[in-house]
Amino acid sequence: MMGKPTGFMEYTREAAPYRDPAARLGDWNEFVQLPVVEDLARQGARCMDCGVPFCHTGGLMANMASGCPINNLIPEWNDLVYNDRWRDALDRLHETNNFPEFTGRVCPAPCEGACVLGITDPPVTIKNIEQAIVDRGFDEGWVEPSPPGERTGKTIAVVGSGPAGLACADQLNRAGHSVTVFERHDRIGGLLMYGIPNMKLEKTVVQRRVDLLEAEGVAFRVNTEIGIDVSADDLRNDHDAIVLCVGATRPRDLPVPGRDLPGVHFAMEFLHGNTRSLLDSEHADGNYIDARGKNVIVIGGGDTGTDCIGTAMRLGCKSLVNFEIVPRPPDERAENNPWPQWPRVFRVDYGHAEAAAAFGDDPREFCIETLEFTGDAETGLTGLKTIEVDWSRPQENGPPFSRIEGTEREWEADLAFLAMGFLGPEQLIGDQLGVETDARSNFQAEYGQFTTSLEGVFSAGDCRRGQSLVVWAINEGRGAARECDRYLMGESRLP
Ligand SMILES: Cc1cc2nc3c(=O)[nH]c(=O)nc-3n(C[C@H](O)[C@H](O)[C@H](O)COP(=O)(O)OP(=O)(O)OC[C@H]3O[C@@H](n4cnc5c(N)ncnc54)[C@H](O)[C@@H]3O)c2cc1C
Ligand code: SF4
Repeated sequence: MMGKPTGFMEYTREAAPYRDPAARLGDWNEFVQLPVVEDLARQGARCMDCGVPFCHTGGLMANMASGCPINNLIPEWNDLVYNDRWRDALDRLHETNNFPEFTGRVCPAPCEGACVLGITDPPVTIKNIEQAIVDRGFDEGWVEPSPPGERTGKTIAVVGSGPAGLACADQLNRAGHSVTVFERHDRIGGLLMYGIPNMKLEKTVVQRRVDLLEAEGVAFRVNTEIGIDVSADDLRNDHDAIVLCVGATRPRDLPVPGRDLPGVHFAMEFLHGNTRSLLDSEHADGNYIDARGKNVIVIGGGDTGTDCIGTAMRLGCKSLVNFEIVPRPPDERAENNPWPQWPRVFRVDYGHAEAAAAFGDDPREFCIETLEFTGDAETGLTGLKTIEVDWSRPQENGPPFSRIEGTEREWEADLAFLAMGFLGPEQLIGDQLGVETDARSNFQAEYGQFTTSLEGVFSAGDCRRGQSLVVWAINEGRGAARECDRYLMGESRLP
């Protein structure tokens, strides 16, 4: 099956364009503009329907995802799109992915890094096609609630409503169990709601799926922190099984002098407050950290750092600098990073492009270590002191880099955001239950089994594997649902 055997020779890759930075900085709407149906069909025609489609055989390679971690049947839906069979493409997509409207927007697309066409040419625009299929499905009214025909009478508590918890709840509900999702925040979605900002994933898109799950019978309890509002033991006694999907929410700190100065914040304080205020009142309530007219420094790269940049830019910051401690990646794959590994190359993400458009330069400074925050308790933060580091000189029994003497520098700053990664789940619920943890403080459960040291208690997503990706959270939520179903019923038909 292959729509157009010569498609990859006739058509070039045309990824969905982003709206112009100057225009998109004036609002909080999504920045990606999907092409029209005919153009997407042409992009689908570039798929070669390879004998071994590496794009859909997801796994870990060199510690990064290679190919799609939920094994989306990519060549099949590329072909269906090319042949104008969008509804069939949607069914095929939903077979493996509960929430393609999330991954189609936020996934880094390790599938494209493993696309065979990518060995010699730019890869197929898989992620854009995925988004287009499901967006069209919703637009056409093809995505409708489909509650299970029969109920098993088993009750399950899913703790945490991020992509892992939602995927798990969706699968368990389909198997006929009565599922309640508990979330401590006031809205459902985990980092889909309060981490990833609106311009990357509009919150109406998240809520639309939550409403669908609710119409199918999943119960949601917001503003309920397990461990505080309801004890973990009570939760366990009241349900036949529990699945912990609480995420890796403990941020890595930077304990240098001045860390406690007003103006130094964890990234999530900034991002969460901003989205909540935007959704509650379009910022009228003032319950957010305002970057307007401020000199902002974001410490740390990755998605969290980029989202802090994009958010500060939309709030109207005066200047923006982004420190990365690691060296600048190469423009092309290095020799030790061959296809089909995830390409570790220099990328200009949306936030970088926006800062460059507004201020003239890419905001990133590489190989920079922060030594001190300066200022005083009254005026708050006024600056940062840094030094450059050399990764070719690792220290014995110390960091894998050395400081370069004479490169000390001072920077002006009114706000600094720490986006240096996350250290694992908060421990309260695990301590109350007595769940065993691994060396990195995650809730121990073998991948594929997802069962913790306690009978009937499962864990999935970032709280089991450590800080990761939405697509892995979906993969783990589905897997934990299958194992939980097997535990309750003795067998499972869930994939
Ligand atoms: C700023 C940011 C941007 C990101 N951008 C991307 C991206 O572009 N693409 C991508 O693939 N990945 C991205 N990620 C990573 C991705 O969001 C996570 O890997 C994913 O959300 C993990 O899903 P999860 O369901 O395991 O946990 P989470 O999404 O973290 O959800 C856990 C939920 O559990 C709730 N909870 C915790 N404890 C309790 C309790 N005791 N009682 C009740 N509720 C509780 C939390 O409030 C939270 O809502 C980003 C992460 C961050 C921080
Ligand atoms: S979920 Fe991610 S890896 Fe899988 S097909 Fe979609 S973009 Fe690619």
